[in-house]
Amino acid sequence: MTDLKSMTPEELVSWCRLQGQPAFRAKQLFQWLSRGVTSTEEMTNLPKALRAKIDQEGGISPLTVERKQVSKLDGTIKYLWRLADGNCIETVLMRYHHGNSVCISSQVGCAMGCAFCASTIGGKVRNLTAGELLDQVIFTQKDADLTISNIVLMGIGEPLDNYDNVRRFLTLVHHPDGLNIGMRHISLSTCGLIKGMDRLAEEGLQLTLSVSLHAPDDATRSALMPINRGIGVEALFAACRRYFAKTGRRISYEYAMIEGVNDTPQQAALLADQLEGTVAHVNLIPLNHVQESPLRPSTHVSAFQRQLEKRGITATVRRRLGSDIDASCGQLRRKAQKSREERT
Ligand code: SAH
Repeated sequence: MTDLKSMTPEELVSWCRLQGQPAFRAKQLFQWLSRGVTSTEEMTNLPKALRAKIDQEGGISPLTVERKQVSKLDGTIKYLWRLADGNCIETVLMRYHHGNSVCISSQVGCAMGCAFCASTIGGKVRNLTAGELLDQVIFTQKDADLTISNIVLMGIGEPLDNYDNVRRFLTLVHHPDGLNIGMRHISLSTCGLIKGMDRLAEEGLQLTLSVSLHAPDDATRSALMPINRGIGVEALFAACRRYFAKTGRRISYEYAMIEGVNDTPQQAALLADQLEGTVAHVNLIPLNHVQESPLRPSTHVSAFQRQLEKRGITATVRRRLGSDIDASCGQLRRKAQKSREERT
């Protein structure tokens, strides 16, 4: 098996040369893959021998739609894709006035164990390849018949726990012969893997880093997010400051508001203490209720937001798209898993 979909155009040139083919074939192949072809037969400008070689190496395995839900409220589409090995992942397409945005998964499942999150309930199964990351954008674009201009790595999984493949995906999706999506149109969300954040800072990319904070104090954050137990909030904020110093890019903090857990005036004040004087943006997310969890959405979102703004910190409340289709990630895959469990 050769994973052609995870190769850069330069690597495809080397591969084509090994097959006795000229370099321009690599560009043609990369362009076909970027269009979401489902078999080598569609690659009509490639010689038969090369197509046969691709088939011998495992062929082109497309993502196939396992389930698809379309929101009646705002046109948001949620895909449950089946991968070549039978695993399923989710991708959400959101339509905004400024363009179409896709939220993609980085792993099958997740190892991080956050208390409020549906994606982590069954643990992590495996990392996605760069080709599978890219195919989520390509096949969503193809199925919905539109152009995607923005990408958020905010679906199932922890992108910095799959660093190498995510980094490779960024190169592929940015490539002018492929989708050609600019780094400023890409956001990457992390629960705060400090080594990965430092590594990403060194790369100096112009993407937006989102940090899933969810609490400004160690007691609350460690109870909600096991990753915090070995790191702590102070070390996380220090990593954020290093990231900003290296890249000059404003960090976005995600904060899912949970009733009686992280929504008190004391916590708003503490958060303001931490962020005052830094270039930051706080995104308050009304908690999406997950069936398996006792946690409830907060009723103090506006007061929390006002308190932050009084201290000069930009805070917005995330608009909920696709609320009629469980558009928050992890929930559809979880449902499909549960109905399979019930059948067996
Ligand atoms: N692992 C990465 C990206 C995936 S989660 C991360 O932690 O950032 C994407 C975002 O959705 C994160 O901010 C996550 O904390 C948040 N999230 C997960 N479950 C949620 C829920 N039930 N309600 C609201 N936000 C949730």
